Amino acid sequence: MKFNKILDECKIYEAGKPIELVVREYGVEPKDIIKLASNENPYGTSPKVIKKIQELSKNMFVYPDDSMYELKEALANKFLVKSDNIIVGAGSDQVIDFVVKAKCDENSKILMSKTTFAMYEIYGKQTGATILKTKDDEHNLAQFEDMYKENGADIIFLCLPNNPLGEGLDSEDVYKFLEKVDKDTLVVVDGAYQEYAAIKDPKKKINPNDLISKFPNTIYLGTFSKAYALGGMRVGYGIADESIIKTLYKIRPPFNITTLSLAAGIEALKDEEFVSSCILKNFEEMKRYEEYAVKKGFSYIDSYTNFITLKLENKFISKDVAQELLKKGVIVRDLTGYGVNAIRITIGTHEQNTKVFEVLNFVLENLKKEEN
Ligand SMILES: *Cc1c(COP(=O)(O)O)cnc(C)c1O
Repeated sequence: MKFNKILDECKIYEAGKPIELVVREYGVEPKDIIKLASNENPYGTSPKVIKKIQELSKNMFVYPDDSMYELKEALANKFLVKSDNIIVGAGSDQVIDFVVKAKCDENSKILMSKTTFAMYEIYGKQTGATILKTKDDEHNLAQFEDMYKENGADIIFLCLPNNPLGEGLDSEDVYKFLEKVDKDTLVVVDGAYQEYAAIKDPKKKINPNDLISKFPNTIYLGTFSKAYALGGMRVGYGIADESIIKTLYKIRPPFNITTLSLAAGIEALKDEEFVSSCILKNFEEMKRYEEYAVKKGFSYIDSYTNFITLKLENKFISKDVAQELLKKGVIVRDLTGYGVNAIRITIGTHEQNTKVFEVLNFVLENLKKEEN
């Protein structure tokens, strides 16, 4: 059957492996599986949110509030913007889709960092747009500037901090770059891990209100999937100038956020204490991975997120390491597909991380023996 030929160039997103698959394929007991491949909050969802969802589950037969009044108000209060500056998506993923569809066709160009969130390219290619990437793995604003000068772009994606590498940029440098960008280029600042960056290094914090008032050609993206521990509920948002939001609304499907997801987002915003305690624990635990990397002779990228990327140098092949870990029930992300010999590990709980080091020691020892 013939399909839209643009799709010949498109790839399917490869999600982190689910627990069920490891149970099925390797016979590991679900209780022994440690899933650290999708940057979820390992401490689980705030008990207050869970209670609210249980109460509301009776209301499933009613359509959700399509105006999303309460959630938008709560976000507007948090970020000191107006409700009209906000659009909510089924994950910020969906907002990326809206943005790309709103701005691009086969004649468009999208500029991004070489090793960044895969969905920018996937949604971009669905419109037929040309994807331009800077040369370095990590975000390099000088290279962004050069490529932008040379080629122009309809959209520029900045993932701050970046997934899957974890690096961040100072907001001051980002602002200097934005001053050089044309008003007709839409710059997407993906802040999926901003809650983490803001605590580790306030210089890397990007305030959406400040961003969009200084640069009306930008859109800030946030999500409830990471620090707010609601990955399974699919809630994210975009914050931008009203005129941009109005355009994105033309693409949004009706009732794109479920009643329970809306309520989860609203409730999660009321429990900021839970979020900050999780973030503090995250960075405490991250130190253990940094020490582990040094001990093993791997390098790591200084991370402003809830994951760490270990570069295995020429010591091991990341694909093998990830595969062997999987057999032992530890799910991590192999970055071979991104052209990097590295594994990305979400920082787990103290107990999980202890087990990860144990299993990793075992796996590395075995792989070393195999080679000799
Ligand atoms: C996780 C993530 C998102 C979006 O997640 P949703 O679950 O769709 O909200 C967006 N950008 C980056 C960089 C991410 O890591």
